[in-house]
Amino acid sequence: MAIFCQRCGTGLPPTARFCSNCGAVIPVVQSIPGRPLVRPHVGRQIAGVCLALAQSYGWDVGLVRIFTVLGFCFSGGLIGVAYVAGWIGIPEDQIPLPREYPPSI
Ligand SMILES: [Zn+2]
Repeated sequence: MAIFCQRCGTGLPPTARFCSNCGAVIPVVQSIPGRPLVRPHVGRQIAGVCLALAQSYGWDVGLVRIFTVLGFCFSGGLIGVAYVAGWIGIPEDQIPLPREYPPSI
């Protein structure tokens, strides 16, 4: 599992705290999959809950959204409650994605 410099995008060992290429301070950013469960700012549709689950577990975000919508229709709103719970419970991603990760729009 590697982390990436926010300034230059250099891949670094997960223990790195400074970029060996440009010297920037490295916050803890994990590569995908294996990202912490956060709601990204890039590529989100509503609150980023589907995207957070998809990125964290390595699922296809399109499928997650389809199942969320289907689940909402067939569960009598239970998925809606779960979605709001995720909205509240999953923290906002404060860290920009590494540039190797293409935004899914
Ligand atoms: Zn760097």
